[in-house]
Amino acid sequence: MLEIKNLHAGVKGKMILHGVDLKIKQGEMHVIMGRNGSGKSTLSNIITGRDGYEITAGDIVYKGESILDWSPENRALAGIFMSFQYPVVIPGVNNTYFLKAAVNSKRKHNGEKELDAANFLKLIKEKLTEMDMEPEYLQRAVNEGFSGGEKKRNEILQLLCLEPELSIMDETDSGLDIDALKIVARGINNYRNEKRSFLVITHYQRLLKYIHPDNVHVLIEGKIVRSGNKDLAIELEEKGYRWLESA
Ligand code: ADP
Ligand code: MG
Repeated sequence: MLEIKNLHAGVKGKMILHGVDLKIKQGEMHVIMGRNGSGKSTLSNIITGRDGYEITAGDIVYKGESILDWSPENRALAGIFMSFQYPVVIPGVNNTYFLKAAVNSKRKHNGEKELDAANFLKLIKEKLTEMDMEPEYLQRAVNEGFSGGEKKRNEILQLLCLEPELSIMDETDSGLDIDALKIVARGINNYRNEKRSFLVITHYQRLLKYIHPDNVHVLIEGKIVRSGNKDLAIELEEKGYRWLESA
């Protein structure tokens, strides 16, 4: 699904990623952990095509094709989705219209019939129930006045509507209370299947109580220094990152 090869990248002349290698197969869930400032969001942003970054070496291959030259919207149409660490507020843009436009541009791209208002409402109501969200969220502007937890749930609502093949979740669990964490984890788990892949960025082992990744990687100063399974996350929780830094 995704292969990152020797990725070196930075922003405004500052190098942040120093040779990242990562392979995610169809159906796999990989977790990246690492201190603040280690480059996790930079990596996510670069996979989704956010501009402003300078890639000095390496490649990103998605379903067999290098996507470095692709626009963010083409990456999204091809099935890449990102849940933002800091979801953006878009005043004046209604949440329902926003989601409907996004879903329909994807359907159009896939040669499917666009959903009319009634059919879209049916779809979105189903997903809202899954995320334990009240219908009133649909009438509000995208993320405007939403609490931290509501914004994160709204990100997963977008994911459920857009049905990506590669989902990148940048600290979706940060700032969630335990009930919201369970709802978000349930949303991800129900969405998971053998065709869909995930890259989950988190600081906390507590998320891994609810979702079970295939691999856990540690990013330190722009490099993956250790990979393992769930036990690695438990070890990090106990020991912190210093033992890996000195290694
Ligand atoms: P993480 O998500 O792991 O906390 P980031 O990828 O957000 O880390 O940031 C990695 C490093 O790059 C940090 O030191 C951060 O300050 C720096 N950085 C990120 N974006 C920019 C930017 N637009 N301009 C300058 N420095 C940046
Ligand atoms: Mg980050």
